[in-house]
Amino acid sequence: MKKYSAFAIAREAMRGHSGWKRAWRSPEMKKSYEVVIVGAGGHGLATAYYLAKNHGITNIAVIEKGWLGGGNTGRNTTIIRSNYLQDESAAIYEKARGLYEGLSNELNYNIMFSPRGVMMLAQTEHELRGYHRINQANAIQGVATEMLTPEQVKAKVPIMEINGPRYPVLGALWQARGGTARHDAVAWAYARAASDLGVDIIQQTEVAGITQSGGQVTGVQTTRGDVACKKLGLVVAGHSGVLAQMAGFRLPIESVSLQALVSEPIKPCIDVVVMANTVHGYLSQSDKGELVIGGGADGYNNYTQRGSFHHIEETVRALIETFPIISRLKQLRQWGGIVDMTGDRSPIIGKTPLGGCFINCGWGTGGFKSIPGSGWALAATIASGEPDALAAPFGLDRFAEGRFIDESVAAGVAH
Ligand SMILES: Cc1cc2nc3c(=O)[nH]c(=O)nc-3n(C[C@H](O)[C@H](O)[C@H](O)COP(=O)(O)OP(=O)(O)OC[C@H]3O[C@@H](n4cnc5c(N)ncnc54)[C@H](O)[C@@H]3O)c2cc1C
Repeated sequence: MKKYSAFAIAREAMRGHSGWKRAWRSPEMKKSYEVVIVGAGGHGLATAYYLAKNHGITNIAVIEKGWLGGGNTGRNTTIIRSNYLQDESAAIYEKARGLYEGLSNELNYNIMFSPRGVMMLAQTEHELRGYHRINQANAIQGVATEMLTPEQVKAKVPIMEINGPRYPVLGALWQARGGTARHDAVAWAYARAASDLGVDIIQQTEVAGITQSGGQVTGVQTTRGDVACKKLGLVVAGHSGVLAQMAGFRLPIESVSLQALVSEPIKPCIDVVVMANTVHGYLSQSDKGELVIGGGADGYNNYTQRGSFHHIEETVRALIETFPIISRLKQLRQWGGIVDMTGDRSPIIGKTPLGGCFINCGWGTGGFKSIPGSGWALAATIASGEPDALAAPFGLDRFAEGRFIDESVAAGVAH
C-alpha cells in the first residue's frame, strides 16, 4: 500500500495528482473463499481487516449489495463514547474508543477522530440519578467520566439555555475523551487497509441466499453467482433479520428507520457533542459548520432510508428550549438509516444455530462508536470458532437464557 504522507501530497501536487493509486481494489469475485462477510459497513470491513491482520486469514470476500459504507455507517451522527452502564458494554465500547484514538495512524488514513468531549444532559431528577449511577459504574470499570454541574455545563456550551421552563439542566455526564470521527473515512480506511492485506471487497452484489449441508454453512448465492465458503459472517445491521431467515433462524431484532438532519453551515458555536435524551435530540457541529442533529426512530418497523417531515419538527421543537439559537437555522438535508434494535439495547455477536455462520448485529442506534472493538471481537470469534472474551456476553443464547445486558438508560435513546 502506498503510504499517505505530507511528502506524498507534496509530490503529487508537483505532478498534477497523477500518481495516486485507487484506495482499494475492485477484484472479480472468486468461486470460493475461506471466509465470506456479508455487508461492507464499518463492522463488516473492520472484521475483515482484523481477520487478516490479527489472525492471518486473508482469503476473504466482503460482499456488499450497494456501495461500501453506504448503509448506517455513512448515515450516522458519528458520536463516539464508552460511558455505558454494564461491565460487558463498557469493555467492548472502551476497547473500540481506545482503538479509535490510534486508528488514523494504524490505517494510515485520516479518520478525523476528534475527542472533543461528549455531554449527556440530565434534565429530570430521574435522569440525574441514572447518570450518577453510570458515573459510579464507569469509575469501577476504568472508563473516565465525571458529573458536571449546570454552571459547568453552561461554561462549556455558552449557547445553551440551562434554565428552560420545562426542562432545566440539572447536570450532565461528561466523557472528555468521547467525540466524533468522519464516518465515511472509517469505512474507507478499513476498506483500504483490508484490501491491501488481500481481502476482496465485492460491491454492487447482493447476497440472496445461504447454502448449507448437514447443519453447516457451505456458501452464499449472490446476484453475480454462487460463492463457496467455510465460514460466513453476517454483518448487515438493519437487514439482519432478512439474512437470518435465509440461514434458517430467527433473531430478536426489530428494524426501524432512524433519522438525522443537518443545518446550513454557520460559524463555530459549539465544540462538544451534546445529547439531550429527555427531550430526545442531540447535536454537534461538523468541521463544515453544519449542526449535525440526531432525531428519533420511526415508531413502526420499516426498511426505508428516508427522512420524514414530522421527525424534523419533533426534534427541532425538542431542542429549541435548550438551544434557542437553532430556531432560526435553515435545515439543509435529512435522511434515515435502518437500525437493528434488540430488546435490551445491546448487540448480538457470536455463533448462530447454523454451523460456521457467525453474526454481528443489534447495535441499533449506537454502533458507529463500536466499529473497531466489534470488528476486533468478531474477527477473533470467526478465527477460533468460539466467542472471544469481548464477544462472549453478547451471544444470541442470552435471549433464551434471560441473561440480558440492559442498556436502556445508556443507549435506549442515546447514540
Ligand atoms: C441516523 C443515524 C444516526 C446514528 N448515530 C450514531 C451515532 O451518533 N453514534 C453511533 O455510535 N452510532 C450511530 N448510529 C448507528 C450506527 O450508524 C450503526 O450502528 C452502525 O453504522 C452499523 O454499522 P454496520 O456496519 O453494522 O451496518 P451498515 O453500515 O448498515 O452496513 C451493513 C451493510 O450491509 C449491506 N447489506 C444488507 N443486506 C445485504 C445483502 N443481502 N447482501 C449484501 N449486502 C447487504 C448494506 O447495504 C450495508 O452497507 C446511527 C444510525 C443512524 C441511522
